[in-house]
Amino acid sequence: MDDRSYLAHRLRAGKVLVMTGAGLSTDSGLPDYRGPDGVRRVQPMTVAEFRAGAAARQRYWSRSYVGWTRFRTAEPNPAHDHLARLEGAGLLAATITQNVDGLAQRAGSRTVIELHGNLGRAICLDCRSTVDREWVQREFTRLNPAFAADAERARNLPLRPDGDVDIDESLIHDITLVHCPTCGSDLLKPDVVMFGESVPKPLVDHCFDLVAASRTLLVVGSSLGVMSGYRFARRAAALEVPIVLMNTGWSRAEEIATRHVHRPLREVLQEAVWDVLGDVPGTDSGSESGD
Ligand SMILES: [Zn+2]
Repeated sequence: MDDRSYLAHRLRAGKVLVMTGAGLSTDSGLPDYRGPDGVRRVQPMTVAEFRAGAAARQRYWSRSYVGWTRFRTAEPNPAHDHLARLEGAGLLAATITQNVDGLAQRAGSRTVIELHGNLGRAICLDCRSTVDREWVQREFTRLNPAFAADAERARNLPLRPDGDVDIDESLIHDITLVHCPTCGSDLLKPDVVMFGESVPKPLVDHCFDLVAASRTLLVVGSSLGVMSGYRFARRAAALEVPIVLMNTGWSRAEEIATRHVHRPLREVLQEAVWDVLGDVPGTDSGSESGD
């Protein structure tokens, strides 16, 4: 059975657990951590560095401040839309996402587990209360008007996948950190799992349950390079749940997967929607499939 037929066959069987990664959002203008060769291109700040001192948090927030102005304008792309349609048709069990951009939900997916959090919130490391990221942004602007003006100049620097940019150190003045509105701590951080942090165990257990109840694990736009996602593929393999990989580059799960589809997500998913649901609104059904 060719890849296209196999994918349609797995989708028609239902209870497909989708796991998504950064590759799903590259068409929305958000870059991937890794290139097609699987090599990590950037080294984000670890939580230990973040906790260690106000200087690290000043650097983090000043970069994140600039990155957020662009990150928040990203829109779902057709691949997000296709997945939302498959979910709407009742074929998906859930979507576990390693992305922190909230784009799957904005495309209409409802059952989304955010494994690594969401950049749209900030959380206090002292009292664990959360606040809206936009509120933090406004506070930061109010507290640091000179930096905010300088930051305008940094807007065209490359954006990192975690919403950060490589900002010139000279732009980081004496940043005043935004404090937690509940307890006053300055240990406010974006509500995402930073490097060196773990995904909360109840969330991991819930995902393992989803794997066990699924008929297929479909990995979309992720090389599964980090263990936080790879372990679910390993569990699926142990339970003999078929694993379909969908990404253009390397995958850590090559050896345990049933299939690896190395084609652009939006094409493969569009074909899948045609094959399984019959049509895609707003497109010329099937005529561009090219095979
Ligand atoms: Zn607090």
